[in-house]
Amino acid sequence: MNPDFSILDNHIHLDPEGLGVEGAKRFEQAGGSHLILVHKPYHHIDREDFGVQFETTLGLAEKVRSETGLVVYTALSPHPAELTRLMEKYPLEKAKEMMLEAIELAGKHVREGRALAFGEVGRPHYPVEEYVWEASNDLILYTLELAKELDCAVQFHTEGGRDSFRDIAGIAKKVGYPLERCVKHFSGPAIEEKENFGLFPSVVSRKGSIKKAIAKGNRFFMETDYIDELSRPNAVLSPDTVPKLTLEFLRKGIFSEEDVLKIHRENPERVYGIEMEKK
Ligand SMILES: [Zn+2]
Repeated sequence: MNPDFSILDNHIHLDPEGLGVEGAKRFEQAGGSHLILVHKPYHHIDREDFGVQFETTLGLAEKVRSETGLVVYTALSPHPAELTRLMEKYPLEKAKEMMLEAIELAGKHVREGRALAFGEVGRPHYPVEEYVWEASNDLILYTLELAKELDCAVQFHTEGGRDSFRDIAGIAKKVGYPLERCVKHFSGPAIEEKENFGLFPSVVSRKGSIKKAIAKGNRFFMETDYIDELSRPNAVLSPDTVPKLTLEFLRKGIFSEEDVLKIHRENPERVYGIEMEKK
Protein backbone atom coordinates (compact mmCIF):
# COMPACT_ATOMS: atom_id res chain seq x y z
CA MET A 1 0.00 0.00 0.00
CA ASN A 2 1.56 3.24 -1.07
CA PRO A 3 0.16 6.34 0.63
CA ASP A 4 1.75 8.51 -2.07
CA PHE A 5 -0.89 7.56 -4.59
CA SER A 6 -3.74 9.89 -5.21
CA ILE A 7 -7.08 8.09 -5.36
CA LEU A 8 -10.02 9.80 -7.07
CA ASP A 9 -13.72 9.04 -6.97
CA ASN A 10 -14.74 10.65 -10.25
CA HIS A 11 -18.46 10.80 -9.51
CA ILE A 12 -19.92 11.00 -6.02
CA HIS A 13 -22.85 12.87 -4.49
CA LEU A 14 -23.36 14.09 -0.96
CA ASP A 15 -26.61 15.33 0.51
CA PRO A 16 -27.16 17.56 3.56
CA GLU A 17 -29.99 15.17 4.45
CA GLY A 18 -27.74 12.11 4.09
CA LEU A 19 -24.34 11.36 5.60
CA GLY A 20 -22.91 14.55 4.10
CA VAL A 21 -19.33 15.16 5.23
CA GLU A 22 -19.35 11.79 7.04
CA GLY A 23 -19.58 10.07 3.63
CA ALA A 24 -16.45 11.90 2.50
CA LYS A 25 -14.68 10.93 5.71
CA ARG A 26 -15.35 7.26 4.97
CA PHE A 27 -13.72 7.76 1.57
CA GLU A 28 -10.71 9.44 3.18
CA GLN A 29 -10.32 6.81 5.90
CA ALA A 30 -10.21 4.08 3.25
CA GLY A 31 -7.31 5.85 1.52
CA GLY A 32 -9.04 8.25 -0.90
CA SER A 33 -7.60 11.68 -1.62
CA HIS A 34 -9.61 13.45 -4.36
CA LEU A 35 -13.34 13.72 -5.07
CA ILE A 36 -15.42 15.11 -7.85
CA LEU A 37 -18.58 16.08 -6.03
CA VAL A 38 -21.36 16.11 -8.60
CA HIS A 39 -24.51 18.14 -8.16
CA LYS A 40 -27.78 16.27 -7.62
CA PRO A 41 -31.28 17.68 -7.13
CA TYR A 42 -31.80 18.14 -3.37
CA HIS A 43 -35.37 17.15 -2.55
CA HIS A 44 -35.67 19.28 0.56
CA ILE A 45 -34.75 22.48 -1.32
CA ASP A 46 -36.86 24.34 -3.90
CA ARG A 47 -36.12 22.39 -7.07
CA GLU A 48 -36.76 25.39 -9.30
CA ASP A 49 -34.23 27.58 -7.51
CA PHE A 50 -31.06 26.41 -9.24
CA GLY A 51 -29.08 29.17 -7.51
CA VAL A 52 -29.75 27.72 -4.05
CA GLN A 53 -29.48 24.17 -5.40
CA PHE A 54 -25.96 24.79 -6.75
CA GLU A 55 -24.93 26.72 -3.61
CA THR A 56 -25.81 23.59 -1.62
CA THR A 57 -23.29 21.52 -3.61
CA LEU A 58 -20.64 24.23 -3.38
CA GLY A 59 -21.29 24.57 0.37
CA LEU A 60 -20.93 20.82 0.89
CA ALA A 61 -17.64 20.84 -1.02
CA GLU A 62 -16.37 23.65 1.18
CA LYS A 63 -17.46 21.83 4.32
CA VAL A 64 -15.65 18.65 3.23
CA ARG A 65 -12.48 20.66 2.51
CA SER A 66 -12.53 22.25 5.94
CA GLU A 67 -13.24 19.02 7.84
CA THR A 68 -11.00 16.60 5.93
CA GLY A 69 -7.70 16.60 4.08
CA LEU A 70 -9.45 15.82 0.80
CA VAL A 71 -9.15 17.77 -2.41
CA VAL A 72 -12.70 18.37 -3.62
CA TYR A 73 -13.74 19.50 -7.09
CA THR A 74 -17.34 20.11 -8.11
CA ALA A 75 -19.40 19.48 -11.25
CA LEU A 76 -22.60 21.47 -11.70
CA SER A 77 -25.54 21.27 -14.07
CA PRO A 78 -29.28 20.92 -13.86
CA HIS A 79 -29.93 17.16 -13.84
CA PRO A 80 -31.36 15.92 -17.19
CA ALA A 81 -34.50 14.65 -15.45
CA GLU A 82 -35.31 18.16 -14.26
CA LEU A 83 -36.59 19.04 -17.74
CA THR A 84 -39.48 16.58 -17.56
CA ARG A 85 -40.12 17.57 -13.97
CA LEU A 86 -40.43 21.24 -14.95
CA MET A 87 -42.73 20.24 -17.80
CA GLU A 88 -45.27 18.95 -15.31
CA LYS A 89 -45.84 22.60 -14.46
CA TYR A 90 -44.68 24.65 -17.45
CA PRO A 91 -44.90 24.40 -21.23
CA LEU A 92 -41.82 23.00 -22.95
CA GLU A 93 -40.44 26.38 -24.06
CA LYS A 94 -40.57 27.78 -20.54
CA ALA A 95 -39.08 24.61 -19.03
CA LYS A 96 -36.29 24.64 -21.58
CA GLU A 97 -35.58 28.29 -20.89
CA MET A 98 -35.27 27.56 -17.16
CA MET A 99 -32.84 24.73 -17.93
CA LEU A 100 -30.79 27.04 -20.18
CA GLU A 101 -30.58 29.64 -17.43
CA ALA A 102 -29.42 26.97 -14.98
CA ILE A 103 -26.75 25.79 -17.44
CA GLU A 104 -25.57 29.39 -17.76
CA LEU A 105 -25.41 29.72 -14.01
CA ALA A 106 -23.36 26.50 -13.76
CA GLY A 107 -21.09 28.00 -16.44
CA LYS A 108 -20.64 31.11 -14.35
CA HIS A 109 -19.43 28.95 -11.44
CA VAL A 110 -16.97 27.24 -13.80
CA ARG A 111 -15.78 30.56 -15.18
CA GLU A 112 -15.20 31.92 -11.69
CA GLY A 113 -13.38 28.80 -10.50
CA ARG A 114 -15.92 27.36 -8.07
CA ALA A 115 -16.76 24.41 -10.32
CA LEU A 116 -14.44 22.24 -12.39
CA ALA A 117 -16.86 20.82 -14.93
CA PHE A 118 -20.47 20.47 -16.06
CA GLY A 119 -22.33 17.46 -14.67
CA GLU A 120 -24.60 15.62 -14.86
CA VAL A 121 -25.60 16.53 -18.38
CA GLY A 122 -27.61 14.40 -20.76
CA ARG A 123 -30.92 12.83 -21.55
CA PRO A 124 -33.57 11.17 -19.43
CA HIS A 125 -32.84 7.46 -18.90
CA TYR A 126 -36.55 6.65 -19.24
CA PRO A 127 -38.68 6.85 -22.41
CA VAL A 128 -39.89 10.33 -23.31
CA GLU A 129 -41.78 11.97 -26.19
CA GLU A 130 -39.80 12.80 -29.31
CA TYR A 131 -40.01 16.58 -28.70
CA VAL A 132 -38.64 16.18 -25.17
CA TRP A 133 -35.82 14.10 -26.60
CA GLU A 134 -35.01 16.83 -29.11
CA ALA A 135 -35.10 19.49 -26.40
CA SER A 136 -32.67 17.38 -24.34
CA ASN A 137 -30.33 17.16 -27.32
CA ASP A 138 -30.53 20.96 -27.72
CA LEU A 139 -29.54 21.38 -24.07
CA ILE A 140 -26.58 19.05 -24.57
CA LEU A 141 -25.50 21.05 -27.59
CA TYR A 142 -25.74 24.29 -25.67
CA THR A 143 -23.76 22.87 -22.74
CA LEU A 144 -21.00 21.63 -25.04
CA GLU A 145 -20.75 25.01 -26.75
CA LEU A 146 -20.38 26.66 -23.37
CA ALA A 147 -17.90 24.01 -22.19
CA LYS A 148 -15.83 24.61 -25.30
CA GLU A 149 -15.75 28.33 -24.60
CA LEU A 150 -14.88 27.73 -20.92
CA ASP A 151 -12.37 24.99 -21.79
CA CYS A 152 -13.81 22.53 -19.25
CA ALA A 153 -14.96 18.90 -19.21
CA VAL A 154 -18.53 17.56 -19.13
CA GLN A 155 -19.82 14.55 -17.20
CA PHE A 156 -22.66 12.82 -19.03
CA HIS A 157 -25.55 10.90 -17.63
CA THR A 158 -27.49 9.18 -20.38
CA GLU A 159 -29.57 6.17 -21.11
CA GLY A 160 -27.31 3.17 -21.60
CA GLY A 161 -26.26 1.58 -24.84
CA ARG A 162 -24.17 2.35 -27.86
CA ASP A 163 -26.74 4.71 -29.37
CA SER A 164 -26.23 7.20 -26.56
CA PHE A 165 -22.44 7.05 -26.96
CA ARG A 166 -22.80 7.58 -30.69
CA ASP A 167 -25.26 10.47 -30.33
CA ILE A 168 -23.17 12.35 -27.78
CA ALA A 169 -20.05 11.83 -29.86
CA GLY A 170 -22.01 13.18 -32.84
CA ILE A 171 -23.10 16.34 -31.00
CA ALA A 172 -19.55 16.89 -29.69
CA LYS A 173 -18.14 16.61 -33.21
CA LYS A 174 -20.70 19.09 -34.49
CA VAL A 175 -19.64 21.59 -31.83
CA GLY A 176 -15.92 20.85 -32.27
CA TYR A 177 -15.63 19.79 -28.66
CA PRO A 178 -13.01 17.13 -27.79
CA LEU A 179 -14.50 13.64 -27.29
CA GLU A 180 -11.87 12.95 -24.65
CA ARG A 181 -13.48 15.56 -22.39
CA CYS A 182 -16.93 13.99 -22.69
CA VAL A 183 -16.87 11.85 -19.56
CA LYS A 184 -19.43 9.06 -19.65
CA HIS A 185 -20.49 8.58 -16.06
CA PHE A 186 -22.04 5.24 -15.01
CA SER A 187 -20.04 3.34 -17.61
CA GLY A 188 -19.68 -0.41 -17.62
CA PRO A 189 -16.43 -2.07 -18.65
CA ALA A 190 -16.89 -1.07 -22.32
CA ILE A 191 -13.88 1.22 -22.19
CA GLU A 192 -12.39 0.83 -25.63
CA GLU A 193 -12.83 3.55 -28.21
CA LYS A 194 -14.47 1.13 -30.61
CA GLU A 195 -17.04 0.38 -27.90
CA ASN A 196 -17.82 3.90 -26.74
CA PHE A 197 -17.10 6.16 -29.72
CA GLY A 198 -14.17 7.84 -27.98
CA LEU A 199 -15.98 9.22 -24.94
CA PHE A 200 -14.04 8.99 -21.69
CA PRO A 201 -15.45 6.19 -19.51
CA SER A 202 -16.04 6.55 -15.79
CA VAL A 203 -16.62 3.00 -14.63
CA VAL A 204 -18.93 2.14 -11.73
CA SER A 205 -16.49 0.40 -9.42
CA ARG A 206 -18.00 -3.03 -9.04
CA LYS A 207 -15.24 -5.58 -8.70
CA GLY A 208 -16.19 -7.50 -11.85
CA SER A 209 -16.48 -4.36 -14.00
CA ILE A 210 -13.11 -2.97 -12.98
CA LYS A 211 -11.51 -6.36 -13.51
CA LYS A 212 -12.92 -6.52 -17.04
CA ALA A 213 -11.95 -2.91 -17.74
CA ILE A 214 -8.33 -3.22 -16.62
CA ALA A 215 -7.91 -6.33 -18.74
CA LYS A 216 -8.46 -4.02 -21.75
CA GLY A 217 -6.45 -1.01 -20.65
CA ASN A 218 -6.29 1.85 -18.17
CA ARG A 219 -8.05 4.62 -20.05
CA PHE A 220 -10.88 5.09 -17.55
CA PHE A 221 -11.91 6.66 -14.26
CA MET A 222 -13.39 4.92 -11.24
CA GLU A 223 -16.57 6.11 -9.54
CA THR A 224 -19.18 5.05 -6.99
CA ASP A 225 -22.12 7.29 -7.96
CA TYR A 226 -22.85 7.22 -4.24
CA ILE A 227 -26.14 9.17 -3.93
CA ASP A 228 -26.13 9.71 -0.15
CA GLU A 229 -29.78 8.97 0.50
CA LEU A 230 -30.52 7.36 3.84
CA SER A 231 -33.45 5.43 2.37
CA ARG A 232 -30.99 3.71 0.02
CA PRO A 233 -27.87 3.22 2.12
CA ASN A 234 -24.64 2.77 0.17
CA ALA A 235 -26.36 3.08 -3.23
CA VAL A 236 -25.07 2.95 -5.89
CA LEU A 237 -21.84 1.90 -4.16
CA SER A 238 -20.58 2.89 -0.71
CA PRO A 239 -18.32 5.96 -0.55
CA ASP A 240 -15.24 3.97 0.49
CA THR A 241 -15.41 1.63 -2.54
CA VAL A 242 -12.91 3.29 -4.89
CA PRO A 243 -9.94 3.45 -2.48
CA LYS A 244 -10.70 -0.01 -1.06
CA LEU A 245 -10.89 -1.66 -4.47
CA THR A 246 -7.92 0.25 -5.85
CA LEU A 247 -5.70 -0.80 -2.96
CA GLU A 248 -6.98 -4.38 -3.04
CA PHE A 249 -6.31 -4.68 -6.79
CA LEU A 250 -2.88 -3.15 -6.33
CA ARG A 251 -2.05 -5.67 -3.60
CA LYS A 252 -3.24 -8.55 -5.72
CA GLY A 253 -1.34 -7.39 -8.78
CA ILE A 254 -4.54 -6.83 -10.81
CA PHE A 255 -3.49 -3.15 -10.97
CA SER A 256 0.14 -2.20 -11.51
CA GLU A 257 1.46 0.98 -9.87
CA GLU A 258 1.41 2.46 -13.35
CA ASP A 259 -2.33 1.67 -13.69
CA VAL A 260 -3.08 3.45 -10.41
CA LEU A 261 -1.06 6.46 -11.49
CA LYS A 262 -2.85 6.51 -14.82
CA ILE A 263 -6.41 6.07 -13.53
CA HIS A 264 -6.16 8.36 -10.53
CA ARG A 265 -3.77 11.06 -11.68
CA GLU A 266 -2.75 11.17 -15.33
CA ASN A 267 -6.22 10.57 -16.74
CA PRO A 268 -7.94 13.22 -14.59
CA GLU A 269 -5.14 15.74 -15.13
CA ARG A 270 -5.50 15.36 -18.88
CA VAL A 271 -9.29 15.21 -19.13
CA TYR A 272 -10.04 17.99 -16.64
CA GLY A 273 -6.95 20.09 -17.33
CA ILE A 274 -5.89 20.19 -13.69
CA GLU A 275 -2.77 19.56 -11.69
CA MET A 276 -3.51 17.27 -8.79
CA GLU A 277 -1.51 18.10 -5.74
CA LYS A 278 0.27 15.09 -4.37
CA LYS A 279 -1.52 13.86 -1.29
ZN1 LIG B 1 -24.77 10.53 -10.26
